[in-house]
Amino acid sequence: MERFPDESEARRLMVDIGRRLYERGLISATDGNMSCKLDRDRFIVTPSGLCKGFMSEDSLIVVDGEGRVLEGSKKPSSEIRLHLLAYSLREDIGAVLHAHPPIITAITLAKLPFDSAILPELWVSLGPVPVAPYATPSTEELPEAVKPFISNHNAIILERHGSLTLASDLEKAFFMLEKLEQAALIFALSILLSGGRIPPPLSTLELARLAQVFQITVSS
Ligand SMILES: [Zn+2]
Repeated sequence: MERFPDESEARRLMVDIGRRLYERGLISATDGNMSCKLDRDRFIVTPSGLCKGFMSEDSLIVVDGEGRVLEGSKKPSSEIRLHLLAYSLREDIGAVLHAHPPIITAITLAKLPFDSAILPELWVSLGPVPVAPYATPSTEELPEAVKPFISNHNAIILERHGSLTLASDLEKAFFMLEKLEQAALIFALSILLSGGRIPPPLSTLELARLAQVFQITVSS
């Protein structure tokens, strides 16, 4: 049975996650956006043009599955279509978080092949993390570029742009983003410390062992 969050609790959590994103340098200025599912056809989303580090609970907006504003006086995020697409493709998710983590984004600029299978716990938590090709932000191009990856992945890197994490609730989506950016830092440090060598992923055998220990099914 589907369980939905209490609305006032969801608003409090969204304001709190916004502050954490800003303080951790995962967004700057008015970057990023997030949403969470209140029930089958109501979603809380962050407003456009506001710093997510300093939001108030009443600045948040409630929209329906078509993006029509039901509550709130501000304009919803320009990436609302991306969020609604994710909910329409994934019955199992309750939150969507888009941020601009600098290290993982720099890795896409450097065209380095980031693979979540370099670190066991990252691979167990996030699975394979694909890179969606560049698309113009705030247009219909972005949902189209990300669409092929949504059904089978909970964390997606956006080329030259940032990240998208999908989870049952907003805190889990935030933790996934934190883990991804921490792994990107470790990946970049490893390349610097080894004079440019790309760290190899764990072997197929080691991944199979992890999948068995943590009882996960592997998608590609
Ligand atoms: Zn963005």
